Parts: sequence; C-alpha cells; structure tokens
Amino acid sequence: MSILKCSEVINLDKKYHMNTFGDRVPVSFERGKGLYLYAADGSRYADFMGGIAVNALGHVNDTVAAALHEQIDKVIHTSNLYYIENQAVLAKKLVDISCADKVFFANSGAEANEAAIKLARLYHYNRGDGFKNEIVTAVNSFHGRTLATLAATGQSKFHEPYKPLVTAFKYVLANDFEEMAQAVGEKTCAIMLEVIQGESGVRPLTNEYLSKVRRLCDEKEILLIFDEIQTGMGRTGKMFGYENFDVQPDIFTLAKALGGGVPIGAVCAKDFCSVFAPGDHGSTFGGNPLACTAALAVIKVMEKESLVKNSEKMGVYFMDRINKACANKIKEVRGKGLMIGVELFTEAKPIVLEMFKRGYLCGSVKNTVRILPPLIINKQDIDNFTEALGGVLS
Ligand code: PLP
Repeated sequence: MSILKCSEVINLDKKYHMNTFGDRVPVSFERGKGLYLYAADGSRYADFMGGIAVNALGHVNDTVAAALHEQIDKVIHTSNLYYIENQAVLAKKLVDISCADKVFFANSGAEANEAAIKLARLYHYNRGDGFKNEIVTAVNSFHGRTLATLAATGQSKFHEPYKPLVTAFKYVLANDFEEMAQAVGEKTCAIMLEVIQGESGVRPLTNEYLSKVRRLCDEKEILLIFDEIQTGMGRTGKMFGYENFDVQPDIFTLAKALGGGVPIGAVCAKDFCSVFAPGDHGSTFGGNPLACTAALAVIKVMEKESLVKNSEKMGVYFMDRINKACANKIKEVRGKGLMIGVELFTEAKPIVLEMFKRGYLCGSVKNTVRILPPLIINKQDIDNFTEALGGVLS
C-alpha cells in the first residue's frame, strides 16, 4: 500500500526534487502488470508509452521478476574487478543475435553513446590517423544529456546553456545525402545516426539514404554508428532497427528496453573497431550481475513469445487502425513496428492529457502523439486505444 497521496508526492517533488521534468502528468503509480499501470486509488491506465520505450515486456513480467528475485538473493553487485557470469553470457547473446562481435556494458543510453564516441576517436587514434575527432550527426537527433551526447544531439535548444560544447560535432539534415557527403572531412571519424529519430517526433531515415551513408563511410574509412537506444530490442518490428534496412553499422548502442526497466546500456561493435584496451574505458556499475540478469531474462521472453514478430505485425495493424479511426483528423502516421508517431494539425500535449483522463498513457512532441507500447499488445488493446484517440480528436 502507498503511504502518501498523489498530491503529497507532488508537493514533496516540487519542494525537494530539481525541476528537470516540469509539471508532470499528475499521477504516481503504485504498481503495474502487463500493459497496465495502477495508481494508489486503484485507477488503471493502459500504458502506450512503455516508460519511454523501456518496458518492452509490459510491467512486472513474471519471468523477469523471478530471475531478478533469484539474482537479488544471490548477489547484486561485485564490480568489474572480477569476472561476471551473466555479463559474459549476455555479451555472447547480443553478439549471437546482432552484427556485432564485442560488447561493453554501461548504465544508460547516454553512457553507451559516450562509449561509442570514445571508441570512434580511439579507433582512428590507434590507426595513427592523427586526431580525427569530429562526428557528423543529424539535425533533430537525440543522443543523450551528458556533455558529449548533448553536443552530439542536433538540436540547439539543448546546447545553449552548456557552451562551450564538446565541439567535435557537425549536424546535417537527415535524409539529405549531399549535405552529409559535404560535411564529412579530414577530421571526421564517424557518422552517428538514429535509424528512426525518436525524441524529435518519430522520423524514419530512408533505406536509400542509409545505404549511401554506409558506402560513404566505407570509402572514407570512417565508422558508422547507429544509436539504437530507442529503436533496438524489437521496438521497430526487428530485433535491431538497422535490420529494417540493407545496412549494418560498425558500432551500435542499446539501452532502454534492454533491461526491461533495470538500467543497463551497451555499446556493440564489430571486431575491427572494438579497440578499447585496459584503462581506456570502464564503469563501476556497468554490466553488473543484476542488470545483466534482467537483460538476459528480457531477451529470453522476447524470443520465447516471438515478441519481435508481434511488434512487426501489431505495428502494421496499429498504423492501419489509426489511419482508419482518425482519418481527416490527423496529418500523418509515421514509424515502424511499435514506434509510432501520429502527427496532428495542432499541438499534441492537450490530446495526450485527454487520453490520460480516459485511462491511456502516450506521449507528445510538438504536434506529434508518440506511441511506444509494450511489444506484448494485441489487436483488442490497439482497437481500444485508437477508438479513444479517434474520440478525443473529434
Ligand atoms: N539516444 C536515444 C536515441 C534516445 O532516445 C535516448 C533517450 O531518450 C538517449 C540516447 C539517452 O538515453 P538515456 O536517457 O538512457 O541516457
């Protein structure tokens, strides 16, 4: 049972927590199961935001919960001074199911991207290429909030107060190959892209663009990094977003759904650029027994329940349903799998609040409603949501 009322939580938060999140949706959840979250007063919400693409299995999946309970009773953290069984097993698993050969574990998306940025610079440093330290990223990208990853993020609103930036980033319009080709120069060590830009409103890159970028990287001998923090782990209807395209990255990063809610990030790389040597990088918590247990259990459930396939199938159904239920009330539906953006003619935030009042959680960026449900959803869940959305938009 909760001890505090939601209004009391809000008062405490306003007084003692830094105001990074502004006025949040006025609810504090007590528990969750599957698609649903429950507030202390018993009210139930269908969670189509999935903890911002984290809760791929829904809330409190039985297999993951059991694995975590068992691990907590054994050992939670030992440090990377010692070998960690589940860290080694998880690294092998990620290699087995992806194009990568080696993995390093971090604790968050931003940290995984920091590691990828360091890896790209180190790769060229080790080759004796001089200081190739510049990375080209896309306008409207989002790569995190540490000093390097906010600089990598191609949105100036994140930069202003933190100047001077870690300067070695150039930003180009997504899907404009000419601009990309011109931006790559003597100092470029890598290109870093989200295959579908998430935080700026669900904007997919095209296969043609990504194929050309891949060829450019090969010609110039620079690294292609995909930030798969949001698109990874089945979100787009494939285990990794790049599988939707005819392109493989040299390095890709994961976080969000990897641990199903337990913080873990990963940088995954091909052998030739897995150049971290002892002392080059590290982490106290990264890849600890608890986090790796969570990730192994998440992948096990995804495979056993064919959730990536479900993401692909339900994604197609979802977009079709939105188009039908909301025709004439929306500008466009974008996305892949269960990473969906619905662009409206007006600001999306009031719509998201109306959906909340009707028991549905989703997100907003400017005019776009963001939908990131767990990969376990079925047609009935989707019908309920789209009907509610159609009603709210009316
Ligand atoms: N990269 C992408 C594509 C993201 O969507 C996010 C978070 O939204 C991040 C990086 C940062 O991840 P984290 O918040 O775990 O640091």
